[in-house]
Order: sequence, then C-alpha cells, then structure tokens
Amino acid sequence: MKSYEEMTKEELLKEKEGLEAEYKKFQQRGLKLDMSRGKPSQEQLDLSMGMMDVLTSGVDLTCDDGTDCRNYGVLDGISEAKQLIGDMIECNPDNIIIYGNSSLNIMYDTISRSMTHGVMGNTPWCKLDKVKFLCPVPGYDRHFAITEYFGIEMINVPMLPTGPDMDMVEDLVSKDEAIKGIWCVPKYSNPQGITYSDETVRRFARLKPAAKDFRIYWDNAYCVHHLYDINQDHLIEILKECKRAGNPDMVYKFCSTSKITFPGSGVAAIATSANNLEDIKKQLKIQTIGHDKVNQLRHVRFFKDIHGITEHMRKHADSLRPKFEMILDTFERELKGLGAGSWYSPKGGYFITYETLDGCAKNVVAKAKKAGVVMTPAGAPFPYGKDPHDSVIRISPSYPSLEDLTTAIDIFVVCVKLASIEKLLG
Ligand code: PLP
Repeated sequence: MKSYEEMTKEELLKEKEGLEAEYKKFQQRGLKLDMSRGKPSQEQLDLSMGMMDVLTSGVDLTCDDGTDCRNYGVLDGISEAKQLIGDMIECNPDNIIIYGNSSLNIMYDTISRSMTHGVMGNTPWCKLDKVKFLCPVPGYDRHFAITEYFGIEMINVPMLPTGPDMDMVEDLVSKDEAIKGIWCVPKYSNPQGITYSDETVRRFARLKPAAKDFRIYWDNAYCVHHLYDINQDHLIEILKECKRAGNPDMVYKFCSTSKITFPGSGVAAIATSANNLEDIKKQLKIQTIGHDKVNQLRHVRFFKDIHGITEHMRKHADSLRPKFEMILDTFERELKGLGAGSWYSPKGGYFITYETLDGCAKNVVAKAKKAGVVMTPAGAPFPYGKDPHDSVIRISPSYPSLEDLTTAIDIFVVCVKLASIEKLLG
C-alpha cells in the first residue's frame, strides 16, 4: 500500500470515494457508540463486588490499634490503610495521609490552600501578581481545569517518549519565580500511556526552582494499572529520589483506588515529606474531623495486602488487554505506513492517543460523531482546550464492550483516512 503522500491526486480521489461509501454505510446503521469515557466497564466493576461482603452487620469494625472505625477520629487515615496504600505507591506509611473518595479532590484542595494560605509559610499565591503552572501536553483535562479555575496561567511543555521535555522544564523553573508547580502523570500517562524514564525522574528530583514553594504534582493515578504480567513499565519512586537530591519537600504524590475498586467510592491519598504533611494537617484538621474510615477498612479487608491488589489488577488487565490489543492491531493493519498520523502503544493505563496530521483532529472527531461514535472532544487534553496543532485524539477503550469498541474503531479509522485525504487534497 502506498502512503497518501505518494499517491497522485486521482488516486487520492478514488480512495476517498471508496471511504465515503464505507462511511455512509456506517451512518445508515444508526449506531450509538461511546469511546469518550475513561471509566471501568461493568465487568471491571463486578471484580470488586466482594468488597460489599467483607463488612456485613455483625462484623467487628475495630482496627489493629483498637480504633473503632464507626466513630469520629483519626485525621490522617487508619494505619492498615496507610500500609496498604504505602505498599501500592512504594512510600513509607508515615509519609501518607489517607483522604476521602477522590484524589482530584486532594489536588484541588492543595491548590486552593496554596492560593489562600501559601505553602509552608510562603506568600499565599492569591497575593502574587502572577502564578504559573507547567502543563505537560497532552495531559489530563481535569488537572488543567483546576489551575484554570484558580486563574493560574498554564504553560505547555511538550511530552516526549521519555516524559516532559526536561530541558524546557529545567530552564523555565530555574528562571521564573512565578512558576509554582507542574502537573505530572508519571506512569502510563493520561492520555498517551507514557512512563517517565529514569533520567526524567532524576532530573525532576534535581530541579533548582527559583520559587521556594515550587511543587511537583505527581499524580500516580495509574501506578498498578499494567496490561501485562511481565512486560511492565517501571517508574522510579520520586519521594526517595527528591530526598536523595536534597529536595525532600518538592513533591506531592497523589493516588487513589478509583480505577482499582469503584470510581467515586474508592480511597485516595497524598504522600509527601514530613514538613509538607505538617503544613497540610494545619488546614485539614479545620476542614474535617476525619475521612471515611469504614471505607478504608473495607478496602483493607478486601485486599488484605499488596498481593491482593496485584492479583486484582491482573483481573482488570484481563478485561482491558483485549480492547487495547484490538485497537493497536487495527491501527497497525489499517494505518501503518499510510502517513495519516501516529500512535503510542501503552503497556498500561486507560488510554490510547492517536495523533493525526496537523489540523485534522477536530474533523476526525466531528466525522466520528456523525457516524454515531462519541469521542473525547479534540483539544480536551490541552490547557484551555486548545491543541496548537489540532492533532491529538484521546481514545478510551475501557467502557464499551469489545464488540462495540471494534465497530467504533473501524469507524474511527475510516474518519482518520478521510480527514487525512481531505487535508492533502486541500
Ligand atoms: N488523575 C488522573 C490522571 C486520572 O486520569 C483520573 C481519572 O480519570 C483521576 C486523577 C481521577 O481520580 P479520582 O477518582 O481519584 O479523583
């Protein structure tokens, strides 16, 4: 098969005609498919139903240290939950606060507290003329929504196969005191599925920011979300690395069990240095008497220990892997060598990113919609919803059935081909 670049105008027109016929046939089927939602499927949610059985009435809800989980108290989480989450994110339980049901909520609180009260005695950000955040792109739209909400200026930093462009990160943070943070999804990133290389993590830990209150927002949402048993990505643990580099307070690490058990009903946590924990607790003790310990206990009793989580994530992988592989096989078969864009092949996480030719992403998403396939809006993985090249499309394989997803991807491929040809024909 020739690439589109190599085809003559006549060949492209002929190809287009065939694709338009295919597209019309899909349209006539009146399909309603959705590849926009990064949610676990029902089959995945069913994997955690055993959690409902571990705390039946009559069960003792007392922790190892004698805490009665039914009552008020324990601001930073029960010790068994800290141990479990600590093992999951490779951190000392002493460095962890267990929160409520959402890590995004912790990130919002962290920014909000920095705005109103500052970070460890530094000027509250709301009193500064300008506050800026670095945003590796493409990234997670809800991160960018938080910084946008607080009027924080966002600066795009390109993602490379090794993580964010560290030359740019080092240069910017060392020069500009207004840069107070960077959003990172370091493992199986949303949306590309990239894991930061060892060198990237080490360079992060050795940053020399101009702002004393600069913090790395290390969102380890996909820390145990491997698709394969052996072929897994490995991420260096950032807290230890920062400590080793003499920057112990520079990172906040976030995580949750949202895509392990039930999204919205999981357990979320922050891990950070003792100094940061002390700073956070000053506010947290005003905000709440304590989070949901019953849910923390439920998670601990269900998983027992980290091996329970590993086994459980294998079952998630069994459900997700065929979907990821079908998409990647289809791209390989239908789009490889065509010059109609590129894609990453992640080994974990929740998304696949397709990069179209410049200026084609919105067109592809619009075409897919007209054929009955809802995709994440083009531009969503960028600050202010603006993709400078209009080329990134996030695909979420988890929620639809394999059968529906296969049809949706067939349609997507036709839309990519059509949009690429339209662009080349001008
Ligand atoms: N962080 C990332 C990178 C995500 O992709 C998501 C959900 O898609 C979240 C956080 C949301 O986490 P939570 O449910 O713990 O708020």
